[in-house]
Amino acid sequence: MPTGTRIRASVAAAIVLAVVVVLFAQDRLGAPRVSLDGPALDEIRGDEIAAHIKFLSDDLLEGRAPSTRGGRLAASYLATQLATLGYGPAGDKGTYFQDVAILESVVSPSFTLTAGKGTPFTYRQDVVAFTGRQEPRVRVDGELVFVGHGIVAPEYKWNDYAGIDMTGKVALVMVNDPPATADEPQLFGGRAMTYYGRWTYKYEEAARQGAVGAVLIHTPESATYPWQVVQSSWTGTLYSLPPSAGEPTLALKAWVSNDAATEIVRRAGKDLDSLRAASLKRGTAPQPLGISVSATIDQKVQQKISQNVIGVLPGTNPQEGIIFSAHYDHLGTAEPKPGEPADADRIYNGAIDNASGDAGTLEIAQAFARARTRPRRSVYVMFPTAEESGLLGSAWFAAHPALPASAWAANINIDGLNFAGPARDIVLLGAERSSIGTVASELAARHQRVVGADPEPERGYFFRSDHFSLAKVGIPAVSIGEPVDFIGKEPGFAKRVHDEYNEKRYHQPSDEFQQDWNYAGAVQDMRLLAELGWRLANDPAMPTYNPNEQFARPRQ
Ligand SMILES: [Zn+2]
Repeated sequence: MPTGTRIRASVAAAIVLAVVVVLFAQDRLGAPRVSLDGPALDEIRGDEIAAHIKFLSDDLLEGRAPSTRGGRLAASYLATQLATLGYGPAGDKGTYFQDVAILESVVSPSFTLTAGKGTPFTYRQDVVAFTGRQEPRVRVDGELVFVGHGIVAPEYKWNDYAGIDMTGKVALVMVNDPPATADEPQLFGGRAMTYYGRWTYKYEEAARQGAVGAVLIHTPESATYPWQVVQSSWTGTLYSLPPSAGEPTLALKAWVSNDAATEIVRRAGKDLDSLRAASLKRGTAPQPLGISVSATIDQKVQQKISQNVIGVLPGTNPQEGIIFSAHYDHLGTAEPKPGEPADADRIYNGAIDNASGDAGTLEIAQAFARARTRPRRSVYVMFPTAEESGLLGSAWFAAHPALPASAWAANINIDGLNFAGPARDIVLLGAERSSIGTVASELAARHQRVVGADPEPERGYFFRSDHFSLAKVGIPAVSIGEPVDFIGKEPGFAKRVHDEYNEKRYHQPSDEFQQDWNYAGAVQDMRLLAELGWRLANDPAMPTYNPNEQFARPRQ
């Protein structure tokens, strides 16, 4: 701001202050501000977003992988920013850092799966496997039970484990969720995928049922990806959290190809397609197959430590909080590939994913820090680690939260900002699941904007970033998605932006800072999320999930 403007602004402010002292205040530059009650929205600026991204996505940070020097540098930068903004430390032992233990395991490819009488099934070709246990050798032997989709969903009156004790047994499970029917078009979310359809849920439920193992049946349609994706994502180094005390774990977590599953069921004298067809009807009993499954998992396991970064701006009632989150980890640096030129770019800079989210979150943090008043609830800002390895940092936080799960009004998660220009819509994944959606829609309308719906609910994006770890323990959560309605652009524009990012940058070394980014949309979005956070931090009533929502249950 030029000096002359500043002086005139100061004079104007002084006059107004003399008239209505309570309504106006001076900020540190002397400009007048009327935002006595609310975040300092003009503290959210494009040039500052750019500056944070430039640093965090610099090659010097080597792709910010957990437990690497670059990852630690990023964490240190974020903690320093929070400290300079006046946030207090909310990590372990009076620091901004919360240690997260991460297990890295590599299963020996000599693994085979024996099922009934006949040739064992081969690693990679027929089966991939992993264990929820930490020992270097884990043996499993149990009776196989076909459990349909492996779902226990009281709100849909659905229980695939009804009447069976799974203790010591191995579940054979279909992925995805049962299709809606003509009579029940909203069964399991209709077209949308519910969490009951995700593979992570299948393992969690089997473990809760006391099973020793769960074998998921892959089909390209139900998984929405080919067997090659299962092969590549379930072999090599796998990341997990060590189980917490008393948490049920599976000795065997496996996927089998559809051909292998068909053969296994044939060995039990049954037909897989008939079992699958029958399981689509509510009330179909689990089917003990009368054959056993056995396997030995040999693995190399090591534990590493990485850090969540957490700061807090105390509210007038610090017993309750809201939490903004944006993961800072990314994919690190790739090993050189044979035949690759020596100067090939191997650093995953993660400028959009998720240096941009960190930058936006820091701007929101600044808008709260420079507000004239403090909201009722404390404002926490968390930068989780190991999101890319399976939401591990946020899952650790959910298990070791700064406040009890019931004390959190909301989580607002930011994973990727929009740099393609202003949009009419702001997509908030999960908005339709809780009262946060209503508040957000009201605020958006005041700015002539709308809260857009998830354009691809069948892909389950709600389950794929850190807010989901908090949703699972019952905390109402939303996460920003990509807009579809850009102002002044032709209808195909949003799809072009989306496709170009996915093909050319997403999870590639080319996700780098771009000179031609347009910050107007991101600034609008961050200002709206700051206002949303302020409302949620002040509303006397806590936000709640809709009564039938799966994630309402942990807090009931
Ligand atoms: Zn991300």
